[in-house]
Amino acid sequence: MLSIKILPDNLINKIAAGEVVERPASVVKELIENAIDAGATEIVVTIEQSGKRLIRVTDNGSGISREDARTAFERHATSKIASEADLETIRTMGFRGEALSSIASVAQVTMVTAQKGAGSGTIVEIEGGTVRNIADGAAPQGTSFEVNHLFYNTPARLKFLKSASTELSHIIAAVSHQAMARPDIRFKLTHGKATIFELPASNSIRDRAFQIHGSELSDGLMEFAGGRDNLRVYGLISKPNHDRGDRSYQEFYVNSRYVKNASLSHALYAAFSDLIMRDRHPAGFIFIDLDPALVDVNVHPAKAEVRFRNQSQIHDLVRDAIREALGSHGRPAEGSDRQHDADRVREIVVDFAARPPVDQKEYGTRSGSLNFDKPAATGYITSRSELDVPISAVLYPLAQVHDSFIIAQSNDGMALIDQHAAHERVLFEKLQDQHEAGGIPVQNLLIPVQVEPGRAEQGLLNEYLPELQKLGFQVEEFGSGSFVIKAVPALMTGGDYKQLLMDIVDELKVHGKSGKMETLRNEVFSVMACHPAIKVHRRMSQQEMEGLINDLFSCRMPHSCPHGRPTVVRFSMDEIKRMFKRI
Ligand code: ADP
Ligand code: MG
Repeated sequence: MLSIKILPDNLINKIAAGEVVERPASVVKELIENAIDAGATEIVVTIEQSGKRLIRVTDNGSGISREDARTAFERHATSKIASEADLETIRTMGFRGEALSSIASVAQVTMVTAQKGAGSGTIVEIEGGTVRNIADGAAPQGTSFEVNHLFYNTPARLKFLKSASTELSHIIAAVSHQAMARPDIRFKLTHGKATIFELPASNSIRDRAFQIHGSELSDGLMEFAGGRDNLRVYGLISKPNHDRGDRSYQEFYVNSRYVKNASLSHALYAAFSDLIMRDRHPAGFIFIDLDPALVDVNVHPAKAEVRFRNQSQIHDLVRDAIREALGSHGRPAEGSDRQHDADRVREIVVDFAARPPVDQKEYGTRSGSLNFDKPAATGYITSRSELDVPISAVLYPLAQVHDSFIIAQSNDGMALIDQHAAHERVLFEKLQDQHEAGGIPVQNLLIPVQVEPGRAEQGLLNEYLPELQKLGFQVEEFGSGSFVIKAVPALMTGGDYKQLLMDIVDELKVHGKSGKMETLRNEVFSVMACHPAIKVHRRMSQQEMEGLINDLFSCRMPHSCPHGRPTVVRFSMDEIKRMFKRI
């Protein structure tokens, strides 16, 4: 590592300096960042009394030389940048040289540090910013930084701290963010006698998510990846139908730095837009690796926010990469229809077969991976050539429950399909496809339908008439506040046009102001899809059920309706057997 230098004044003025020590968790964050910058592969965090009594961060990184050990505590002393140009290429977590001096000014600090191969280490004791002692001492390679009695000399700040459990939860969050950013580093966090984390090094973010958050969360996550060579976006997101009740577990990492960024949050929601209900939330651990020159990390005192040079491009890359992963249950982007069906069938079979049956003799021939060449006892697929069969042959409808839900049998169990939700999804994507293909086919009405909306609605309708026309509705003003519907999208034929139009106007009220035409269009499509979709309590023929299943699984996003409700719920043979205590 370079030696530590005090930054020149002109550069000090350029960095967004700020108070870095707000609470115990900020000390933890800064010290872990220093350990990461020192190349540590192991970081141990020891806390007592929620950090008020003690915070100790020990690493096995580069250590600090005897000469630098004193300088490190000076204000604006850093080994990480030397000139303004370096701000463009920052790969380190720190660069302002503020943390150690700030921490040492409000606590009693002991640092023990040793460089590799140096005969001995250095001990520095500082209290309230005043150096009490610097001495030689035996120490393993690395740095141990002990912060005692934080804010002991600033009672006002001490008073502002929240309850012990709140401060501890901030510390746990700080450690888990750093640990998520760097799965390759082993982390340990203890509070008093309790071990909170013990995270072995791993090369996968999926392992790390599991280590930190447990299987309940991580089982519901799937991977995604996208971007291009020097701008990679990747991470973990909720699987379809594993959305959550709040916004926790939405984390963004830019060049291994945990950050908040409104545009990235928006991209996550945009990707899930028609897959989750309004009051539900996706989980997402989203990583972006890019040239440091394309992102400004120097915009926030605690470096908690970043600004991208090309915000909208990154937004779209993230949204599209997530969208693609979510849609990978849906049809592949290219290939012939036949190929596409075959691929769909393969995916569904593989999906259903993900958990191998426990009783091999009774339930099939597969274990773990799928073998298309051997006959499966209860399966419908016996050879690769049969992959050209329609999906309904793999997910075969047996009956309807209360004329509302379809029961279908699959290789590995059964599924319940919500007929209305499934049909809504099919119609929704049909409308999207028709619109994209150049225009939604319209049906002229023999007898135009008259509508008399309220005052507020009249204005909205007038404003959106041209847009509605593009969506297949020919609506004209008829004088004195009334309108006539002259044509409707062909898919809507036979419905209650008046109600449909008023439902769309309601949607315009909510989303009209949002400004994004695409969002608005999708909201309108989801209203449109709802109207003609097969209702509950409607008996379906075998042929209709098969047709619906085939159509559903030809969709890009077959697993939820446009309002975000699930379309299919599956039960594997294992689950069924477990319910009957057979395994
Ligand atoms: P910054 O991280 O912005 O450079 P800090 O005040 O956090 O500023 O640290 C000052 C300097 O002390 C760092 O630039 C680094 O050279 C050195 N340092 C701090 N902590 C460690 C550590 N754990 N291991 C090695 N060097 C460290
Ligand atoms: Mg630092």
